[in-house]
Amino acid sequence: MASGIYVHVPFCAAICNYCNFNRGLLDEALKRRYVDALVQEIRTAPEQGSAVETIFFGGGTPSLLSPSEITTVLQACRDTFAVAPDAEITMEANPETVTAASLDGYRAAGVNRLSYGVQSFRDEELTRLGRLHGADTARRAVALARAAGFDNLSLDLMLWLPGQRLAHWFESVDALIDVGPEHVSCYLLEIYPNAPLRDVMARGDWSVAPDDDAAEMYLGGLARLDAAGYRQYEISNAARDGLRSRHNLLYWQGGSWVGFGCGAHSTWNGVRWRNLSATGEYIERVAAGGSVRCDERRLSAVERMEEALFMGLRLVEGIDVAAMRAAYGLDVWDRYGAELERYVEAGYLTGDPRDRLALTRPGMLVANEIMMVFIGDPVR
Ligand code: SF4
Repeated sequence: MASGIYVHVPFCAAICNYCNFNRGLLDEALKRRYVDALVQEIRTAPEQGSAVETIFFGGGTPSLLSPSEITTVLQACRDTFAVAPDAEITMEANPETVTAASLDGYRAAGVNRLSYGVQSFRDEELTRLGRLHGADTARRAVALARAAGFDNLSLDLMLWLPGQRLAHWFESVDALIDVGPEHVSCYLLEIYPNAPLRDVMARGDWSVAPDDDAAEMYLGGLARLDAAGYRQYEISNAARDGLRSRHNLLYWQGGSWVGFGCGAHSTWNGVRWRNLSATGEYIERVAAGGSVRCDERRLSAVERMEEALFMGLRLVEGIDVAAMRAAYGLDVWDRYGAELERYVEAGYLTGDPRDRLALTRPGMLVANEIMMVFIGDPVR
């Protein structure tokens, strides 16, 4: 099973009004100390010497790290781990943060995949979300990346935005297809209870589209991506052939990854932990030579099995029933068949469910409900 490294960068130039991630406003002095701490954490990792095939810089806004800072962190990874020569090295970036020079520098550092948080190609939607870029900036960022030699680009879009209706969403999907990335992620905006976006929506009298329209947005967006040659491989992700996100597949296919940086989560050979989440506390603990890892525990066989079911169902290829039997001694159909039957009848599960259990696209819209079948298993 493949293994990878996740590096968390908790800084942003502004805080978007819907964001619930572990991030804070950029402070240059703090960033310098944070990079030093990251390097120290990586160089002293107990997993040193292990082979890894992917490295992923996520955030926050990793593109607020300079090329020389990214080079330093990547060098620490290469010195400490056996990084595969053809490793996928992804950096998330916000479109307004990149320049021709910075992209050249990231490329020279070894980053070979960029993931831009575009979210929408409509300026008014981006403004409502508190994003710092507009649609033209996103297009320019794609052109700059191509000029710097990046041939593996992913763009994120969000649907079900305040005030967004079906035609608006399709406009963004078509614009994305026009700029031609290799990979696409489409996420449904979830507005958490105290999100400042709620006030913005109240002031502007904006609502999200009715549920039925959200379903049509999702299905219609995927149909447009199909027609443009993007193959959906996960509930929210589609890619050109051979260009799926290898790092994200680690999460969905039961691989191992070690996370560095504040708040990073890790699952390595069946052991799970998280890092201290406060940036200052993280830096101080690393500087003092202490461990930043918390809540470390070995996953039980039942937890690993449940996770394989949840994650497997997210993938278009679904769950291989025979592989589950071989790995966990579990016959999925014998165990859950009575409850799953109604989802097969409703057209939410596809194929021969005794062989492979996979969601249909309409089934993906009710994935959370179907996944509940695997919770509270009587044999736990
Ligand atoms: S750029 Fe991303 S991580 Fe930063 S505040 Fe906005 S949504 Fe959150």
